[in-house]
Amino acid sequence: MPTEAAITWTIVVAAGSGTRFGGGTPKQFLEIAGKRVVDWSVLAAASVSDGVVVVVPKGSSVTVSSSGLDCQVVCVSGGDSRSESVRKGLAQVPDAAQVVVVHDAARPVASPELMAAVVAAVRNGADAAIPVVGVVDTIRDLDGNTVDRSQLQAVQTPQGFSARALRDAHATAAQATDDATLVRAMGGSTVVVPGERWNIKVTEPEDALVVAALLGCCS
Ligand code: C5P
Repeated sequence: MPTEAAITWTIVVAAGSGTRFGGGTPKQFLEIAGKRVVDWSVLAAASVSDGVVVVVPKGSSVTVSSSGLDCQVVCVSGGDSRSESVRKGLAQVPDAAQVVVVHDAARPVASPELMAAVVAAVRNGADAAIPVVGVVDTIRDLDGNTVDRSQLQAVQTPQGFSARALRDAHATAAQATDDATLVRAMGGSTVVVPGERWNIKVTEPEDALVVAALLGCCS
């Protein structure tokens, strides 16, 4: 739990069906290196949070416990899209929260230091703080044209927000693949912090192997 005055809550979105991962257990509930993917994500989030809201699939009986964590954990059912799931999570965040972090459960290797960096950037005045990494592959569009990768960045979570900016951004039924996009669309200020190249999103089955190696060696 943070010692600073800003009350910080994190929403860990874990309500996806993981169709790209294949059938069976959704990727965020696989056990890797001794914990479920979602538990690794909540553990990192807890390091900066007074409370964590975990958004779980609609109709699921999955729970996440606060055992061993120095913060509250609340579970709530998600929606049909990531943005709807964030809104369901946000509805559980107390009004007193000043900073809200949103993190994909499917990114279990994000470090506590990255969590702290986005919170610090918001405390320094940004409406939104996002981790980014450079693009290393050559990228082409569907017409076969190569895109200048020096103009591109890959955006990760955790993303930090002033609670007011995030609530304003989610006041409508807007949809996006991340929350900073919605805050920026409302005119909010966005700052970038260095992301972590190992902070991959478990999406395809082989990603689980990489994450197992990373968590196994670093945990
Ligand atoms: O589908 P995508 O990889 O963008 O999902 C990112 C995160 O959002 C995952 O952790 C997933 O569980 C979550 N999500 C959600 N509710 C949805 C869809 C995705 O919480 N309806």
